[in-house]
Amino acid sequence: MYLEHGWKDGHPEGPERLNTIMEQLEGDKLLGRLKRIAPVELERKWIEKIHDDDYLTELKTACLNGSSYIHSLDNQLCPASYSIALHAAGGVSEAIKAVMEGHVKNAFCAVRPPGHHAMRNRAMGFCFINNVAVGVRFLQEQYNIEKVLVVDWDLHHGNGTQAAFYNDPDVLFFSLHQFPFYPGSGHASETGEGPGVGFTVNVPMSPGKEDADYLQVFEDCLTPRALEFDPEFILISAGFDAHEKDPLGRMNLTREGFRKMSQIVCAIAQEKCKGRIVSVLEGGYDMQGLAESASAHVQTLIEMPLDPPHFNPESSEKTAVS
Ligand SMILES: [Zn+2]
Repeated sequence: MYLEHGWKDGHPEGPERLNTIMEQLEGDKLLGRLKRIAPVELERKWIEKIHDDDYLTELKTACLNGSSYIHSLDNQLCPASYSIALHAAGGVSEAIKAVMEGHVKNAFCAVRPPGHHAMRNRAMGFCFINNVAVGVRFLQEQYNIEKVLVVDWDLHHGNGTQAAFYNDPDVLFFSLHQFPFYPGSGHASETGEGPGVGFTVNVPMSPGKEDADYLQVFEDCLTPRALEFDPEFILISAGFDAHEKDPLGRMNLTREGFRKMSQIVCAIAQEKCKGRIVSVLEGGYDMQGLAESASAHVQTLIEMPLDPPHFNPESSEKTAVS
């Protein structure tokens, strides 16, 4: 179903993104080690935790009326896009359910459309419904989880997710992203408001950064802050558009960088939340870069031990670039 969303040929956020990931997982002999989880169309009451009712009606109507886009030409629609977007959020909620009920140890959601730019009342940057933000509220209300860490390593700032939890001290939103760049937000001075001050962490990165630069942020900024926050669950906004081949970005990450970033988040999850991670696809527009990076990420999730040795910050250099 996720392959059916979209309209014009040539839009970077196309169905071939998922096909190439699936082919790579098969080629890397990972597909057979995965349990597939079928998505559901998530009930609108959950979507409304993050998005205005009026906006959802506008989106649904635009699709039913055959509009080719909403709010901006970036956000192309087909008649089924509303239902597909509800299924993307529903893929995440089903993955959360599977992890919380012990059917899988963690999950990667190969969903379209992506979500992290979607605002309460506005589609942005190929995103319509904020899959990760809806997932946070689903976790909290369905499973009595209180504290959730969201790690957003997409090339772009996750403005929609930041906005959803900007005054919420129960959700630590950690984003590193090319800056200044689309969507314009994500300055280091954006740290939250009211009771949420300190629970938004933005690490703007100038173009040209490499694996070692990202890993240093993961070691020096993310790890200590995340351990201090003590999350009960981790969601990853896993974009792969910081890959060196990506046509939209100017970062120089490789699949090995994504592998090591994944290992660090796994170590935090093992230490703090029984390894509970649901990772959700966001961007990534070079087909080979996307596929090989997503595959390294999934392999790391597969191979994460269930009963890890305790995380030892003193030995963290084993995950750093040497
Ligand atoms: Zn992106």
